[in-house]
Amino acid sequence: DPVPLHSPDRQADDPDAALRPKSLGEFIGQESARANLRVFIEAARSRGEAMDHTLFHGPPGLGKTTLAQIVAAELGVGFRATSGPVIAKAGDLAALLTNLEPHDVLFIDEIHRLNPVVEEVLYPAMEDRALDIMIGEGPSARSVRIDLPPFTLVGATTRQGLLTTPLRDRFGIPVRLQFYGHDELDQVVKRGARLLGLDIDAEGAREIARRSRGTPRVAGRLLRRVRDFAHVAGGEKVTRSVADDALTRLEIDRLGLDAMDRRYLTMIAQTYKGGPVGVAALAAGLAEQRDTVEEVIEPYLIQLGLLARTERGRVLNDAGWEHLGLDRPVPRGG
Ligand code: ADP
Repeated sequence: DPVPLHSPDRQADDPDAALRPKSLGEFIGQESARANLRVFIEAARSRGEAMDHTLFHGPPGLGKTTLAQIVAAELGVGFRATSGPVIAKAGDLAALLTNLEPHDVLFIDEIHRLNPVVEEVLYPAMEDRALDIMIGEGPSARSVRIDLPPFTLVGATTRQGLLTTPLRDRFGIPVRLQFYGHDELDQVVKRGARLLGLDIDAEGAREIARRSRGTPRVAGRLLRRVRDFAHVAGGEKVTRSVADDALTRLEIDRLGLDAMDRRYLTMIAQTYKGGPVGVAALAAGLAEQRDTVEEVIEPYLIQLGLLARTERGRVLNDAGWEHLGLDRPVPRGG
């Protein structure tokens, strides 16, 4: 089914591709990640080697795929992309690996969802650039080692904690991506408007930036929806009031939360009196996948300080009650 408008999740038909920065210089924000990558890219290039295996982790829509493509482009090597759930058999991965050109980047999105049998094949490939494959069956079966060209594996995951330790340990360059600040999203929106040929003023851009959930993918999506509203309303320029009007009609509030975010918070407040409540109960109540709740909904609410994850479950913070405009219930007898 379709991804909700405001979800930072990828859509099958990715309209973001047009807005993708193509170089480190064009990539906005993530200063320390960018500065470090620049050094590692430069070092690999000057030594004429493949860059070390790199893992990007952080919430969806922050630029993991974009950075993987940029790394390949800046290294001047080929880019092959796949994703964890797509590689069904060890042989599928073996085929990908043996078809790489020397120094290529192989990008595996959602690498935490690799099947364990496939993951086993990856270990010697990453560490020794070798594939161990079984030939024959029964007593005559034997294992043959095939050498691979030097390559860079770039993995991306929304859940670093779900990676097995042996896999995580084989990445020499782990990079954590953070939510973007309003100033950075402001640049993302202005850049997107320029590429879309959309007339927007400073306050219009600011309004979209503030309500983009700290996420460039969301900024791009909101920009396109605001453009639609402006278009149909017959206006040419996106001003603050045009943006505000459109975003309000899309049920995106002043913190950038959408209807699902508010349903989530309201459920903790009203059904569970502010918590603590387990994530499984919340996911069931929202009829959402638990993964979606943990990877898509919660990280931003935690970042805003509206919500806390505790050992006993999710708890609504004071700021959460305030944002909902609800009073925390007084404990009985208190
Ligand atoms: P992820 O792989 O982390 O889910 P993507 O790399 O697919 O995220 O990025 C989503 C979209 O957001 C991209 O298509 C691009 O248009 C935009 N984007 C991401 N990061 C940036 C950035 N730093 N500057 C400008 N646009 C960005």
